[in-house]
Amino acid sequence: MPPIAQRPRGTQDLLPADQPYWAAMSGTAKDLAERFGYLPIETPTFEATELFVRAVGEASDIVSKEMFTFKDRGDRSLTLRPEGTAPIVRAYFDAGMQLEPQPVRLYYLGPYFRSERPQRGRYHEFRQFGIEAIGDASPLLDIEAIVLGWKWFGGLDVGGIQLQLNSIGDEVCRPAYRQLLRDYYRPHLAELSVESRMRFEKNPLRLFDSKEPQDQELKQKAPRIVDHLCQPCAQAFQAVKDGLAAEEIPFSLNPELVRGLDYYTRTVFEYQHERLGGAQNALGGGGRYDGLAAALGYRATPGIGFAIGLDRTAMVLKERKPLAPPPPDVWALAVDPKDELYVFHLAGTLRERGLRVVVDPGAARLDAKLRKAAKRGARVALLVGPEERERGEAVVRDMRLKTQVSVAEREVVPTVTQTLSAG
Ligand code: AMP
Repeated sequence: MPPIAQRPRGTQDLLPADQPYWAAMSGTAKDLAERFGYLPIETPTFEATELFVRAVGEASDIVSKEMFTFKDRGDRSLTLRPEGTAPIVRAYFDAGMQLEPQPVRLYYLGPYFRSERPQRGRYHEFRQFGIEAIGDASPLLDIEAIVLGWKWFGGLDVGGIQLQLNSIGDEVCRPAYRQLLRDYYRPHLAELSVESRMRFEKNPLRLFDSKEPQDQELKQKAPRIVDHLCQPCAQAFQAVKDGLAAEEIPFSLNPELVRGLDYYTRTVFEYQHERLGGAQNALGGGGRYDGLAAALGYRATPGIGFAIGLDRTAMVLKERKPLAPPPPDVWALAVDPKDELYVFHLAGTLRERGLRVVVDPGAARLDAKLRKAAKRGARVALLVGPEERERGEAVVRDMRLKTQVSVAEREVVPTVTQTLSAG
């Protein structure tokens, strides 16, 4: 019989050898977010499909081809969450957080699901670290979000990040700009790619997302929204740029950086990485979403946040600096299996001191077990042979120096601790 199944397409196993990278990413995220006053939140991995449909609109790519949607037994449509912001805004209102002092600062780490065609850096299941600051429209929060993300990459020592920034206006200035963009493109429709022609109809701002060579020249000469912002949007954008300059965070203005969704307002940003290249070069992105709460049916409430892809960041981290799982401190074994409970007991006293202790079970030749200990990188081996057992002793072996001493049971902890601290 063949084995039962393979990993589903577009998924990954995060193996023990991968975990040090994930521990570094989540540890840095928790530490940093909490230092900025963000508190952790977890929402369900699936939600009513309607939540995402309302958030992104029926016509968007996400709804039409990227969602894992299924029916429950009561025939209700559910969707594995493709992103974190809409669920968190839902939870914010569900839990009455709008009544707390504002803004409410939240961060999250968890899996997300999109059924895009899998390729390097693009999976069906992937993980994100994200933050949201909800309930206040101050540009200081835009600055804070961008700085927090920047410092996260810095804390992990991920070099080569390029921060790209744009403003996409709001419901005051964007409609007029959208009209301007349509007027600009209308005489050239025949020259555009099929997809761009569709975007012209549905969502002209997304014409800037086109990677088609035939669209590039028109794109470069197109009117830019930053030149058509209303006064409040222009002021907010200036405040964000000034704040980043004051924090000495380098950024480039990218007028082509747009978010296809209507609820995004003003600041949009992306952290790109030089090494990833191609369409998958974004490690993370975010922006202000002052229109989202209303789109979901709640009272209009401003918000800003980012989501950073951990799978892609792990790819960059792995190339940059190798991390290994921590080796055991002590490798414990009995020469005769009938003594292994005694060894297990000694191991327990060492674990109580906070040491990592692996008990090697069963019968095998001593030299084979010691080779295993060396291979796993253990610093100390704890050995009990029949004679040690009889005398109530154990052998403490320094795996590096290849020296060993036989000590009484009560001396095991101090001797092991001493051996560990000696090297
Ligand atoms: P988005 O929510 O689309 O702005 O994505 C934020 C970040 O999540 C991206 O920059 C990627 O790093 C990551 N990401 C998005 N979709 C995927 C995917 N299908 N596979 C892996 N990472 C993804």
